Amino acid sequence: TDPSHIRNFSIIAHIDHGKSTLSDRILEMTGTVAHRDMQAQLLDSMDIERERGITIKSQAVRVSYTADDGETYQFNLIDTPGHVDFTYEVSRSLAACEGAVLVVDATQGVEAQTVANAMMAMNANLEIIPLINKIDLPSAEPERVKAEIEDGLAIPADDAVLASGKTGVGVHDLLEAVVYNIPAPQGNADAPLRALIFDSYFDPYRGVVALVRVVDGSMHKGQKLRLMASGKVIQAEEVGARHPVEEPLPELSVGEVGYLVTGLKDLSHVKVGDTITLAEGGVDEPLPGYREAKPMVYTGLFPIDSDQYEPLKEALEKLSLNDPALIWEPEKSHALGFGFRVGFLGLLHMEVVKERLEREFNLDLLATAPSVEYHVYRQGGQMISLHSPQEMPDPGEIERIEEPYLKAKILIPPDYVGAVMDLTVARRGTFVTMNYLSQHTVEMLWEIPLSELIMDYFDKLKSNTKGYASLDYDFDGYKPSNLVKLDILLSGKPIDALSFIVHRDKAYERGRVLTEKLKDIIPRQMFEVPIQAAIGGRVLARETVKAKRKDVLAKCYGGDISRKRKLLEKQKQGKKRMKAIGNVEVPQEAFMAILKVD
Ligand code: GDP
Ligand code: MG
Repeated sequence: TDPSHIRNFSIIAHIDHGKSTLSDRILEMTGTVAHRDMQAQLLDSMDIERERGITIKSQAVRVSYTADDGETYQFNLIDTPGHVDFTYEVSRSLAACEGAVLVVDATQGVEAQTVANAMMAMNANLEIIPLINKIDLPSAEPERVKAEIEDGLAIPADDAVLASGKTGVGVHDLLEAVVYNIPAPQGNADAPLRALIFDSYFDPYRGVVALVRVVDGSMHKGQKLRLMASGKVIQAEEVGARHPVEEPLPELSVGEVGYLVTGLKDLSHVKVGDTITLAEGGVDEPLPGYREAKPMVYTGLFPIDSDQYEPLKEALEKLSLNDPALIWEPEKSHALGFGFRVGFLGLLHMEVVKERLEREFNLDLLATAPSVEYHVYRQGGQMISLHSPQEMPDPGEIERIEEPYLKAKILIPPDYVGAVMDLTVARRGTFVTMNYLSQHTVEMLWEIPLSELIMDYFDKLKSNTKGYASLDYDFDGYKPSNLVKLDILLSGKPIDALSFIVHRDKAYERGRVLTEKLKDIIPRQMFEVPIQAAIGGRVLARETVKAKRKDVLAKCYGGDISRKRKLLEKQKQGKKRMKAIGNVEVPQEAFMAILKVD
């Protein structure tokens, strides 16, 4: 296709503002997918994505649109994930585009990831088309939202498209705006091939498939190509476009977006952000890459039944084929046996992976409380990266410990400034600055330790602001902190899988709250179970689970069989998530209680 008739764009938004629904409508209204084949959120292909209504992987789809000027255009539309864990996917996608449609919910207005995504699009020099969505809702306030876009983001919004992805109103206006406002790709058709890999996945039948944007030259089936970062030479087994059904093509020409079947079997050779060129007579200078995904949160995953160790390992291997951000290594716990320490991009990524392991691979898993990566400097200067509290050296060997900090951006209505202050200061946050995006929205910037953020901070933030707050964050670097390892002892024995790292000033409080919680969570056993929180040998708090007196069934008088059965059934379900540690049965909840601060 002639580049003047190509438009490459992304749709970006805060989560739930309607990106996926809008993409669906575009596919339907351009006749790409017939109405009868429409399935809500068509581009969200993973089961979990559809169920949870979130987009995890980026998707690229080619759409053909005949505009009001009578010309037919090729649109390459890239749906991006909106959740903060998956921000790195957004930045990859943007590098393949000339424009972005910034979707803002007319009832919610500008939120934290609206700002973050808009910034990324601006930094990538994209033309931005603001679109105010969900105008079908009675509570829509398009004028207010326009003002927020102009004041808060400095994006002119007079000509913002007013639309509803649900009813289709305004979608035609959007398609016309794409033709007229988003620049056609600029590239040299006669230069040697340079193409950008912006996503890749493993197909069990064909190996690694890369999603690519041709920047210069063209890419043909059968061509010998070189992946510049890994140095791998491959033969293009197939190239084509997705509608989203794949259509093989003889070539991808300059400016086009499409897929390439690489024939490689190992996803790690096909690095997202890498440049593809010709194996012979190619370029020397790769395209600028982008930020690599780095795990932020680590957790121990242990099979409840130790026979499932090998199946768990195989499942992790399979999932990693498609998820380069997922990293893991074996971990041994005295309490829980053999398992894995697994690194994730964030808590949502962790939940999604755990859910997939359990559902798709039929595993029963116990997850320990997530922790961050600490940098521990030994006396004498050697640094170790600590992924698990268990690996903490003795305090006498430690010179200092540093922990990861975030720059957090919180958007709230002005009434909640005080509530956010209280909560965030209590979580060791340092206030940086605050400014009004509009009369309805304040933007606050904070520096906060990541370890505090993963302790149910977001839930608390939401509940303390009646759900209005939105949050976005970026890694800010490591800073020294006065940290200690807090041990939890059951019946006098330290349980390694329950220990965690905490700021010294908070240790007493967290120890007290946690022992109280554990007292309620750990079921009564035939004997008394003392629970203690301690630093080194010093006990900070103590509670006791009393010994069991009655049989559960004693509660069911008479012959109410069905009730009895229900009770037994319930017990069995509860059992599934229990693990015997020594002679104490400890439920999954006990490990997560560490995250619930108050
Ligand atoms: P995404 O997270 O940005 O991809 O948002 P989704 O497309 O998944 O939509 C989030 C929720 O908003 C879903 O429940 C949609 O049904 C709903 N929604 C999306 N667009 C509209 C719209 O134009 N009008 C109304 N009333 N609801 C919408
Ligand atoms: Mg979505």
